Amino acid sequence: MLKIFQHDINNPDHFVVTLELVPGRDSFGKSVDTILAIAKDAYADGRVSAVSITDNPGGNPSLSPDVLGYEIFKLGMDVIVHLTCRDMNRIGTESRALQLARMGMKNILALTGDYPRKGFGGRGAPVFDLDSVSLTCMLNMLNTRLTQTGDPDTFFTGCAVSPFKNTEGECFAQYAKLCRKVNAGASFIITQLGYDARKYEELIRIMKAMNINIPVLGSVYLLSPKSARAMNRGLVAGAFVTDSLFEMVLDEWKNKRHGLKLSVERTARLGVLLKKYGYQGIHIGGVHRSFKTVAKILDRMDEIKKSGDDEHSLFSFAVAGDHEPQTTDLSGSETYYVFSDNTKQNPSPTWEKRLSISEHLKFRFLKKVHDIFFNADSPAAPLCRTTAEWIERRNLGRWVRILIEDPVKGLLLSCQKCGDCGIQHLAFQCPESGCPKHTRNGACGGSKNGMCEVFPEKRCVWFRAYYRLASVGRTEEMASECVPPRMWEMNHTSSWLNFHMGRDHQSQSEHMIRACASDRCKFDAKKFD
Ligand code: SF4
Repeated sequence: MLKIFQHDINNPDHFVVTLELVPGRDSFGKSVDTILAIAKDAYADGRVSAVSITDNPGGNPSLSPDVLGYEIFKLGMDVIVHLTCRDMNRIGTESRALQLARMGMKNILALTGDYPRKGFGGRGAPVFDLDSVSLTCMLNMLNTRLTQTGDPDTFFTGCAVSPFKNTEGECFAQYAKLCRKVNAGASFIITQLGYDARKYEELIRIMKAMNINIPVLGSVYLLSPKSARAMNRGLVAGAFVTDSLFEMVLDEWKNKRHGLKLSVERTARLGVLLKKYGYQGIHIGGVHRSFKTVAKILDRMDEIKKSGDDEHSLFSFAVAGDHEPQTTDLSGSETYYVFSDNTKQNPSPTWEKRLSISEHLKFRFLKKVHDIFFNADSPAAPLCRTTAEWIERRNLGRWVRILIEDPVKGLLLSCQKCGDCGIQHLAFQCPESGCPKHTRNGACGGSKNGMCEVFPEKRCVWFRAYYRLASVGRTEEMASECVPPRMWEMNHTSSWLNFHMGRDHQSQSEHMIRACASDRCKFDAKKFD
């Protein structure tokens, strides 16, 4: 295994540069040759610690990062492979991880992944059997096996975070999930992309407040009119280009040479700013033709640093700045910041305005029922257990499910009958019917203005979870121990009986929860003061 990236990112005196490469749909020809040429030149240049290779970016089929990465890896260039949860279940994902380990490519960026787009014959099936937290946890546990079997190296797993959310609910959903990723074993962080300097700075402060002490790379991107348009239209999940920035880019690129020059300048200036804020490095994206542009960005960064001219007014494109008033956050500003300018602010949750009375009552009711009947510490637990055993002995489980459980949970939760209930991890919402990615550990990076990436007309369940939990002062639950993936062997069985008979994830996956429960991060939205 090459350890250039691992070595560089763990050296506090080294400002790391990584470069994102995006494979195309071909296995031969220009697109592959171009990527290999960029990687070769990056290696010769010596300033890039690793190239990262995307995994079916945007949910579109493309050449596998494993095969392309291996060719680059053999050149001597270190590689970070993106590993998403979209296309393979846990069996396929573990197999792929073992394959990468065997090939020596153990720098992994663990991601939930964009929702699938069009493949052969139409849209591909979304898998999302794991999410980025359970994937990180799986890699962490695989490390033990690798060591036991004599592999000299273990996975070096990173994670992503998006600081560029404009509502309180989404901001805290992101940071709570970051906390879970870190506790599950992430060793580095790469941000999503935005052009709001204050949000970049805020992430560093948030990490300090949460005691996170692992390196973070800030994303910078060579914006072209095409990429700016895609990001502005929300086609690149987690990347934000506001209307005003998009118009600026269009204007700059009226003359192509001028546009490219200004784009290099913007990218370099953001890189310098991130270094000033305390980022351990930058992750460069948007370079698709030649390494020369990367070299220009890095050269220009050196010049700016030497001149001391680190003007950052170029990066004040707040995410909500261009939207209609209804997207204004309830904190009173157009976009929500955890910390007010210069002085720390203790955010007061605005749940009253976000939750309707009926939603609030439903949450309270479900919580109460759960606390009494589905809590191992409840005084009613022994009676529930005895009743469950009685039902099992008489083989009545199927009838209890069909006649009582399914109708009740169908009505209250749009239950999909997975049999391994996870509503308690999502403020009493169903992760199967409520989230198209079935996330059990936190929000993906794709939400916008509190709405779901996949179904923009629906609220993100994690946005709702934040306000539900804020209403009872329990936001820290969003970052409590890693939630195991759903146990598919429970499918279409009674989740009530499975819980009381100790068959569901809460009993069966305790070893996993323990293995991925470090205390490298502490989260409580109430305590950012
Ligand atoms: S998590 Fe599973 S059992 Fe619980 S409500 Fe959703 S589908 Fe039903």
